[in-house]
Amino acid sequence: MRYHQAMPSFDVCNAARLRRDPRYDGRFFTAVRTTGIYCRPVCPAKQPLTRNVVYYPTAAAAEAAGFRPCLRCRPETAPFCPAWNGTRSTVARAVKLINEGALDEDSVVSLALRLGISSRHLARLFERHVGATPQQLAKTLRVQRAKRLLDASDHTMTEIAFQAGFGSLRRFNAAFAELYGRSPSSLRNTQKKPGLRSSP
Ligand SMILES: [Zn+2]
Repeated sequence: MRYHQAMPSFDVCNAARLRRDPRYDGRFFTAVRTTGIYCRPVCPAKQPLTRNVVYYPTAAAAEAAGFRPCLRCRPETAPFCPAWNGTRSTVARAVKLINEGALDEDSVVSLALRLGISSRHLARLFERHVGATPQQLAKTLRVQRAKRLLDASDHTMTEIAFQAGFGSLRRFNAAFAELYGRSPSSLRNTQKKPGLRSSP
């Protein structure tokens, strides 16, 4: 796979995963080819074989590659801390704006304008540092926001859809069907059953 600047090497990631090192939580995600699921380094589930794992710098990158978030370690609850986070780099500024909803209503072209760069340059920066396009990151962040609201609140599905930035219940349902293969309401029920809690 392509090298991502924000990410530790395969060996560093692998060692961190094998010891479930919390210092690496949010700095990379582990995708498991045999299950199609991606996890945080601290996932309490049984460790996959090293030959079956691929590492990604962000949840958005793992999702862009076709992996689903683990329902056990809940990647949406990981701290957001790639190497460039907190810096004043263009990528960090773009991610912050996207997280604040810049692409929920507006286009990538206007986001690039706000950052003072071309949308082509923005796309290149994202490919190199985030491992996903700005739109893919926006989608991941919306679903993550919605997932956290599902787990933490008793709001209706419509309220969550709008609060998370989907703009319509239909798009909210479609995003969950695509990513989790399930409806948002079924995920809410799952989280409340004993034995599927996120902490070990
Ligand atoms: Zn997991």
